Amino acid sequence: MTTPARRQYVQIKSQHQDAILLFQMGDFYETFDEDAQIAARELQIVLTARDFGAATRVPLAGIPVHALETYVGRLVAKGYKVAVCEQIGEPGKRLVERAVTRILTPGTLSEPGLVPPRQNNYLAAVALSRDKHAAGLAYVDVTTGEFAVTSFPAGSLPAAVEAELHRLRPVECLLAVTFDPPKLAGHAAGAEGSEPAQIKPFILPAPTTLTMLPAPTFEPEAARVRLCRHFGVSTLEAYGCAQLPLAIAAAGAILAYLEKMNPALLRLLIGLRTYTADAYMILDGHTQRNLELLEGTRGGVKGSLLGVLDQTRTAMGGRLMRRVLTQPLVDLVELNRRYDALEELVDRPPLRSRLGGLLDGLGDLERLAGRVRQGTAIPRELLGLREFLKVIPPLQDVLGSATSALLQEQNEALDACPEFVGLIERAISVGEDGENRTIKRGYSADLDTLIDSISESRRWIAGLEAAERERTGIKTLKVGYNKVFGYYLEVSRANAMRVPGDYLRKQTLVNGERYITPELKDHEARILNAEERIEELERALYADLLRQAGVHYPRLSISAAALARLDVLLGLAEVAARNGYARPQLDTTTGLAITAGRHPVVEQMLDGAEFIPNDAALGEEAGSIFLLTGPNMAGKSTFLRQVALICLMAQIGSFVPARQARIGLVDRIFTRVGAHDDIASGQSTFMVEMVETATILHHATRHSLIVLDEIGRGTSTYDGLAIARAVVEHLHENLGARTLFATHYHELAQLTDVLPGLRAYTMAINEQNEEIIFLHRMVPGSGGRSYGIQVARLAGMPPGIIQRAREVLSQMEGERLERLQAAEQPLALVAEQKTPYLPARPPSGSLPALLLEPAASSFLQELLGLNVAAITPLEAMNRLFALQQQARALLQQQATGTNNSH
Ligand code: ATP
Repeated sequence: MTTPARRQYVQIKSQHQDAILLFQMGDFYETFDEDAQIAARELQIVLTARDFGAATRVPLAGIPVHALETYVGRLVAKGYKVAVCEQIGEPGKRLVERAVTRILTPGTLSEPGLVPPRQNNYLAAVALSRDKHAAGLAYVDVTTGEFAVTSFPAGSLPAAVEAELHRLRPVECLLAVTFDPPKLAGHAAGAEGSEPAQIKPFILPAPTTLTMLPAPTFEPEAARVRLCRHFGVSTLEAYGCAQLPLAIAAAGAILAYLEKMNPALLRLLIGLRTYTADAYMILDGHTQRNLELLEGTRGGVKGSLLGVLDQTRTAMGGRLMRRVLTQPLVDLVELNRRYDALEELVDRPPLRSRLGGLLDGLGDLERLAGRVRQGTAIPRELLGLREFLKVIPPLQDVLGSATSALLQEQNEALDACPEFVGLIERAISVGEDGENRTIKRGYSADLDTLIDSISESRRWIAGLEAAERERTGIKTLKVGYNKVFGYYLEVSRANAMRVPGDYLRKQTLVNGERYITPELKDHEARILNAEERIEELERALYADLLRQAGVHYPRLSISAAALARLDVLLGLAEVAARNGYARPQLDTTTGLAITAGRHPVVEQMLDGAEFIPNDAALGEEAGSIFLLTGPNMAGKSTFLRQVALICLMAQIGSFVPARQARIGLVDRIFTRVGAHDDIASGQSTFMVEMVETATILHHATRHSLIVLDEIGRGTSTYDGLAIARAVVEHLHENLGARTLFATHYHELAQLTDVLPGLRAYTMAINEQNEEIIFLHRMVPGSGGRSYGIQVARLAGMPPGIIQRAREVLSQMEGERLERLQAAEQPLALVAEQKTPYLPARPPSGSLPALLLEPAASSFLQELLGLNVAAITPLEAMNRLFALQQQARALLQQQATGTNNSH
């Protein structure tokens, strides 16, 4: 048995399964069942239970009606969707009528307190082709009106979609319900976790909330019609996507979704930009993380490249800086224009300080203008916007002297929008009328007449107290007002007998009486009546004012974009000037030459210690592979990342931490760094490492930059060395991409003899009686030793363990030497003969030696026959596994063979 209320709840909840349903019951919004458990956990509120009829007892957690905003904001920020179900009927004997009046989702929020100020809040949509091989992607920020689409051709999925989603980090992503939902990486919102995930078209970044929509929402033709209607055009030609049905489908789905959720949000979408991902340097999610672009290792911007480069003064500049950093360009002309602007700003400190002074404290013009357009701006925000616009004429004065094209263009784009300012000044009162009114006197004759019509009554009431004290002689007589009784005259009990005959008793208090007079009632009626109409008229005037002000939105948003660009340029110039960065030289070669390069983040964290600059030359005559050995802590990782970061900085238009840098445009940076288990996806460290390496080998081009920090460490030394070597050879022979490879396998350095494009370097150290000093300087050659024990000692390992490790090491080194002598150092031999796999004199007694046995030939055939670039990671795993089995069998054979011979 349940109750009618429970049945009503269950019915409404069934229509909002993917949201947390807040169900109003009097002064509380209640959540039930699983929703209650989530709400209690996420909001730290009490979880109780409630009976519905005799046999139904369900979990319950509630929040007071007045605190709705705060709690809803917290849930949505955590990635949940929230449906607010209100009582819409009069409470009475029968079941009160209820309906969902609002649905809040992360991507459709526009309240200033609920979206992070310095980050875009993207809502994305992905439309997949029927065979799931191609896709269109659209995204929008409903607080700024940014609306863009792109498409991914067959064959580029899932990597390209994933890279783009990782760049955007949308808070919400729309997908058609016919497709299996993508795999969620450590996803918070439990609401839709129940869908079976058999085929995973792509992986969504962790904080993204997934919203499944009916398939017809993504139908390209309907989407095209919807977009055309929205923009008031008959073709999408002008937006550049007319020929991209999947892109149109995704953009159309966004329109349909916003229309359903909150049509006011559509007003900001005044344009649609079509872009192609290859117009930018591609940075996949791993690389963004590995290079610590937006977040340092401890989370947050501290310790990230963004933390160093983002010196912007405004929220819109902050948002642009993030976009710029995740979308490096591959456009020489545009990049040189950015350099020119930076050069001018770096060379002219007074220009910088004047611009900085004007941008300081400037509010979020972009989002404020958006709120005006959406009709949600409050009067204080309109006044704020007007104040901010006042900065533009002096900014234009300052920029008038700029000679670089980009600064001049921003100057031209700036628009002080005097019509908007004039409108606000005419309409909004800043309290100058002495009255607490929103609309200024003189703006509306009707309003002024209404206000004037009661000013006589107000004056009369204002003078009433003094007049009545005089008339009655009661010195303590008071005039007051409350909502229930209106105006009254209050007289203490002691004076009650002195009140005149025209006083009518209205209310008796403990110590006195309250009265009215017919004349007072008359004035009161006039005032209340007029106040009601004044309020109504003010509301209408204000709504109309927002409509008029909203007309200026396109101009305001162009200005806001120019301000954001100025802010970013100025910030980059300040960083460049402060840290002595240099203007890079770009070309379209596949070369790279950095003189005295530094790591932009590490150099800031050295606490006064000196950062040792290093040179790097790669590609063309310098050789395409840079092999770096050296002990832990010597600075290998720092160097690898510094080269990648310098390229990336150059391609966002920033100056770089180097004395000089010449860079052939990089189309994509790949990184394979460190070992981290992707536990959420059930993959082992080694598997992740291999998958990442395989991705690199599949997608890199001659113009890419590859950073490999250790390969093959998650498996046995021989496996690891074999894989590392095969990868190096493949990169050298087939790809020719600029590659930086840090490794502990010193043996690989010997390959310089056979691979002319391979250069070996090592990190210099000073070694004095078991002490090592890291010089952080790179020198040609190979390290030869690992110094792991010395580093362990530096790390504070107990002396007994260090001592024992030394003993074991020297014992093993002795054995290894013997074995190597017996094997006549196959690797060195290989190098000499320039035939990597088949040295002439067969050595024996070690695995490499074993490879030369006739029995190993099928093993070798298989290994050599592998087209590493063409197989999938899974295939690679399977083949490797099979090869390992074969190797084990070979070893076994040898062991038995040896025994037999005795
Ligand atoms: P591991 O193999 O353990 O990752 P590594 O050789 O990659 O070690 P890094 O992590 O690059 O070493 O560097 C270790 C520390 O050395 C850095 O955190 C930094 O403090 C310092 N360091 C690195 N490079 C330099 C440099 N060029 N100048 C000054 N200090 C440096």
